[in-house]
Amino acid sequence: MDRQALMRVREAFLSGRTRPVQFRLQQLHALQRMITEKEAEICTALKQDINRSQYDTPLLELIGIENEISLATEKLSQWAAPRPVEKNLLTISDEVYIQPEPLGVVLIIGAWNYPWALTLQPLVGAIAAGNAAVVKPSELSECSSLLLRALLPRYLDQDLYPVVTGGASETQELLRLRFDHILYTGSSTVGKLVMEAAARHLTPVTLELGGKSPCYIDKSCDIRIACRRITWGKFTNCGQTCIAPDYILCEPSIQGRVVECIRQTLREFYGADPKSSPDYGRIINQRHFNRVLGLMEGYSPVVGGQSDASLCYIAPTVLKDVPPHSRLMQEEIFGPLLPIVTVSDMDDAISFINEREKPLALYIFCSDKKVRAVWAATMANTPSTS
Ligand code: NAD
Repeated sequence: MDRQALMRVREAFLSGRTRPVQFRLQQLHALQRMITEKEAEICTALKQDINRSQYDTPLLELIGIENEISLATEKLSQWAAPRPVEKNLLTISDEVYIQPEPLGVVLIIGAWNYPWALTLQPLVGAIAAGNAAVVKPSELSECSSLLLRALLPRYLDQDLYPVVTGGASETQELLRLRFDHILYTGSSTVGKLVMEAAARHLTPVTLELGGKSPCYIDKSCDIRIACRRITWGKFTNCGQTCIAPDYILCEPSIQGRVVECIRQTLREFYGADPKSSPDYGRIINQRHFNRVLGLMEGYSPVVGGQSDASLCYIAPTVLKDVPPHSRLMQEEIFGPLLPIVTVSDMDDAISFINEREKPLALYIFCSDKKVRAVWAATMANTPSTS
């Protein structure tokens, strides 16, 4: 997109047609219609992009977008209404209130792992707030991006919400332009580039990044249930979820049982050969395939470990007794490898987490209320590092 194309989006915004709440509601209803009518096509695109199970797309992406649309439609009049403000000495003789205003033209840059949710959920907010929006889906989930580019103008105002496809160079071209807000989802490395580019125009940004989300399994809990939940969260979408459990912390005395419960659950979810399961996904591309395999180099998995480069397939894999300083523990895994690191007790687990970058999510499995209270208190006292 060049300056002139962006100018046309800005002109559409300046025409004022996004201002009436009625117009925004109509666009949100049209977006809902698109999802309802095109669900099958969206599921097929994701099957092609990452071999996503047909059941997972409605559950993992579409319901979330639909909920966002219903929330916005229900609350919009309230959100857009002026809010009363108390008068002070400076405003004593004035009529004072806060009037929410659209910002203008928003840029939405999405990632490939949930290509519909990560572009359309921010778009719902942008539309509800009366903005125009340029939507830039990820080039890596190509089938979804092309389908989004074909569908959106068929349902929404064609001038206000253009879709721009392309890779890093197209995104960098966009980032040279001036937007009124940027919503970015993806890795921290690109997040820094986005923030740097935005700073040149003093454009505010919202960055949805990644992290290493730990699971602590306390010996007091029902280990079978904990492992079932962790297995679902970890291996859904082939481990390519920003809040997927990244690693497990537990005491050595329960490690063996944890491994066995995960092994049994994997068999139940994906059968004896996950490669032939319609419910097990693939790594998005060769580069990520090599990256994920490289992370476990030198370690012997206790479950899984098989791979097939021609299909970007990596089996659900569990590694035990993983040293805290191994490569696996240095960066977000974002793939189907689940390392187990043993700790001497709960305090050791808490220190382990606090010594590292702040994760996006933390999963604690325990039946003891006192243990839960300690975690809650510890986390509430942790100073923010990011
Ligand atoms: P990606 O490769 O699709 O990149 C994201 C976007 O940045 C794409 O639109 C891409 O075109 C653009 N981009 C890539 N390289 C660029 C460059 N050099 N310059 C400018 N733009 C560039 O996705 P990714 O970064 O692999 O995404 C995975 C990450 O996203 C993981 O860390 C994951 O945890 C995180 N994530 C976070 C959330 C959240 O809500 N917090 C949700 C999903 C994913």
